[in-house]
Amino acid sequence: MTNPPIDPIREQLVMSLVSFIGPRPNLLSPDSTEPVMRLEVSQPILTFEDMEKLRRASTFTQGHFKSDILSMCYPAAWGADGMEPALAQLCADAEDAVRKGTNIIILTDREVSVDAIAIPALLATAAVHHHLVRAGLRTRCGLVVETGSAREVHHFACLAGFGAEAIHPNLAFATLLDIKDGLPQKIDEKEIVKRYIKAIGKGLLKVMSKMGISTYQSYCGAQIFEAVGLATPFVEKYFTGTPTAVDGIGLEEVAEEAVRMHRMAYTEAPLYDQLDPGGEYAYRVRGEAHMWTPDSIAKLQHATRAGSFATFKEYSKLIDEQSEKLLTLRGLFRIQESATPVPLAEVEPAKDIVKRFATGAMSLGSISHEAHSTLAIAMNRIGGKSNTGEGGEDPIRYAPLANGDSMRSAIKQVAAGRFGVTTEYLVNADDLQIKMAQGAKPGEGGQLPGHKVSKYIAKVRHTVPGVGLISPPPHHDIYSIEDLAQLIHDLKNVNPAARISVKLVSEIGVGTVAAGVAKAKADHVTISGHDGGTGASPLSSVKYAGSPWEIGLAETQQTLVLNKLRGRIAVQADGQMKTGRDVVIGALLGADEFGFATAPLVVEGCIMMRKCHLNTCPVGIATQDPELIKMFDGKPEHVINYFFFVAEEVREWMAKLGVRTFSEMIGRTELLDVRAGVEHWKARGLDFSKLFYRPPVAAGVAIRQCEPQDHKLAMALDHDLIAKASAALASKRPVAIESRIYNRNRTVGAMLSGEVARRYGHAGLPEDTIHVNFKGTAGQSFGAWLAHGVTFELEGDANDYVGKGLSGGRLIVYPPKESPIVPEENIIIGNTVMYGAISGEAYFRGVAGERFCVRNSGATAVVEGVGDHGCEYMTGGTVVVLGTAGRNFAAGMSGGIAYVLDEEGDFTQRCNLSMVELEPIPEEDHAAAHAGGNGELETHGKVQIDHVAGHDDATLKGIIQRHLLFTGSERARRVLENWAAYLPKFVKVMPLEYRRALSEMAQEQARREQPAQRVEVRAND
Ligand code: SF4
Repeated sequence: MTNPPIDPIREQLVMSLVSFIGPRPNLLSPDSTEPVMRLEVSQPILTFEDMEKLRRASTFTQGHFKSDILSMCYPAAWGADGMEPALAQLCADAEDAVRKGTNIIILTDREVSVDAIAIPALLATAAVHHHLVRAGLRTRCGLVVETGSAREVHHFACLAGFGAEAIHPNLAFATLLDIKDGLPQKIDEKEIVKRYIKAIGKGLLKVMSKMGISTYQSYCGAQIFEAVGLATPFVEKYFTGTPTAVDGIGLEEVAEEAVRMHRMAYTEAPLYDQLDPGGEYAYRVRGEAHMWTPDSIAKLQHATRAGSFATFKEYSKLIDEQSEKLLTLRGLFRIQESATPVPLAEVEPAKDIVKRFATGAMSLGSISHEAHSTLAIAMNRIGGKSNTGEGGEDPIRYAPLANGDSMRSAIKQVAAGRFGVTTEYLVNADDLQIKMAQGAKPGEGGQLPGHKVSKYIAKVRHTVPGVGLISPPPHHDIYSIEDLAQLIHDLKNVNPAARISVKLVSEIGVGTVAAGVAKAKADHVTISGHDGGTGASPLSSVKYAGSPWEIGLAETQQTLVLNKLRGRIAVQADGQMKTGRDVVIGALLGADEFGFATAPLVVEGCIMMRKCHLNTCPVGIATQDPELIKMFDGKPEHVINYFFFVAEEVREWMAKLGVRTFSEMIGRTELLDVRAGVEHWKARGLDFSKLFYRPPVAAGVAIRQCEPQDHKLAMALDHDLIAKASAALASKRPVAIESRIYNRNRTVGAMLSGEVARRYGHAGLPEDTIHVNFKGTAGQSFGAWLAHGVTFELEGDANDYVGKGLSGGRLIVYPPKESPIVPEENIIIGNTVMYGAISGEAYFRGVAGERFCVRNSGATAVVEGVGDHGCEYMTGGTVVVLGTAGRNFAAGMSGGIAYVLDEEGDFTQRCNLSMVELEPIPEEDHAAAHAGGNGELETHGKVQIDHVAGHDDATLKGIIQRHLLFTGSERARRVLENWAAYLPKFVKVMPLEYRRALSEMAQEQARREQPAQRVEVRAND
């Protein structure tokens, strides 16, 4: 694991597109006292004017800079064979130029014409970049690329990644200016160029952020790519150091393609007959082939609805034959049938094979309750598993239905660590899946738009109806494998019976991460391929991000086997699984289990309209609109038919392979071969030997999962707490417990809270039923998922992740009474405290580290100072900061309220104001009297009427009084004793969308409650 992904919108302050063009100083040279001059651009996309200035750099800079223009074109008459010498010449020219004093090299393909072919700009750029690196000259010059071929974000990202410090997309600009009169809006040329540059800049920031890279300067030349289907010698020569798992074409084929394209462009045949229609993003006639076609969708739906295995075979034939169109890597593999097949009757029955199947992680919210629960019922009937996706689950689904069915999702996902991840949710799981990334959009979060957040969805997610929910990149608070190990440990503690799964994205290096995950004691790992995902995936992620699961799975299997870790972790492959053949190939490459997402949705009725994010799904799947939901006609029986058909196909393959049990197939790559004679000139050099490699290991080393992990739960302090709290757990009798605590005691409280939630649900126990007084230093995740009715009082200090996922409990931390430290000036709790808290309260006498209350959706917390990124992505709850708050406070905060004591008057500078407003707190509070005191709106109990009606004075004072009561805080005492003087120094941080939604709710409630003429309130939970 390296850097976590960044949110390029909410965390823009750490990102930069500034690029320097020109020679770089030698940072290690002791005598480089003279600063080297470099040209600075605020972003790397250059306009026509910028290019003109660069061409005349010498004139503009009094000779400090000297630019040289090198053409990437060569005579068309040389044909494909001419590209290699042309590249060699280009590299030699670049070297000569630098040796003669040129310090800006401009590579251009402007001269392309009927007589001149352009070397692909990326190839030329990478070749020159690496040639200069090898010659020891790269830092003596800048590299600028002027090309007609850069159009999409990925083109720019590749050029940057292979060394371009700036790029001028001349043809893209010219095209835009050419179509200007046809644009829907009348905008001048300058504005057109400006908007295009802005769009590409945003795209680049997103691409960089996925890899946790925050500046263009770091991204430039970093080569954060992997090649698929390029020959190793070719990569070594021109893209030196880029990993390539599947060997394929070399310079010869690349040149041939360039020549073909040139011929098409300058042919005399009519254009309409020759131009490539594209169709990479959306289906076009004669365009790129797509995996799901109207025909395959119709066949699958017909087969599963009619229960016809024969029709299913027609569907799978259509899919499996896609190898002809080179749509998937696995399509190119050949399964070697055995000379001694076994009778089908002797092969493991389908009812056992389907237990290895799971449906993909699609949250309730992104799809309707009907579609979600239909999948769950189907999977529960067959003994497979459905996956919640992270979006909470309605507790009514935990109890079986009258007919014996169950709507409970066996896999509960923990993605952003909020949105309904309560203790009750966690204990009602067979698998708990930590989503580190999503195959279809690695490094990206998501967003549930406000119009999809219905009352029901808001209730399940513990948020506010109508307020959009931003998911940051999953777990971008996890900075190391240790952080991940901690989360695995936390989840195992809260639900010891569940397997802990980690979802990773297929890419080069995933095997190493998977080995880390196995050592971090995950029971299960998912390798997710690049081509899954819904229609909500952004276009920049539909292509070019992630890699096929075949590559990631093969690497994972090899690494785990080599490190003797495979036996203790189950491996699942996921990403556009469609047929029995897909499953068999997955098994042979090393998967124990399989995830299916799109295919079951198609079975439920999805017609791949790709309008999932618009709430207009015509078949009632990806919508919360009650009228559209009526159109849903998926049935569990259809889904069950699908999985049994797939399993039957698997059996047929197993018979042909000569294996009787599924386990025998796992990891048997010797049964795979490259499909003989794929008829495409570019497929000829494909070589899968790296994927099919079987590490030589001693006999007895496991190649599939066969033993459990040892989570070392026996050492948990919670066993002692549970024993001492037995009266409370059994009969709600209050208990008080005293305990020492040391920093080796991690995740204290999670197992106890799991026991509470298992018995009493999210409501938990009556307030303060279990009161534990700790003394000492708490380890990580103190009070994680603390359930309602449990109070943890700690005299001492605590590490990171205190109160993670707090689910109704109360946390109190204060320094030892004899300690001489001044609490409001010293850190008492670590980073990422109250991460994803759902409800409950926390009082910290002292300062917190960074990311305090990130993703809080309903808890109340008081602290005496916080580091950077406080209250990030908060969606509910109340936070009081009785001291200084660090930078980027409230970034992405769409709900809840924070009150910050701003004694210096400079909080505005550190608050991210993109989604919130700052306002003073009024002294008088007539509304409170009118409303009848503190209370809450709506049933989910997390929306406080005070947040709307101007009760701030009373609310804030009440919370600080409790802080004083529980912690004895001197700071609280001072503030309360001088309330009139301190109140004007408080700043209220109010999210704009939250205010709107709350006002609407208050009005609606007021209307409902007439003639009572008052707002009904409920007691705090
Ligand atoms: S029919 Fe379209 S909008 Fe509905 S789930 Fe399928 S792809 Fe999404």
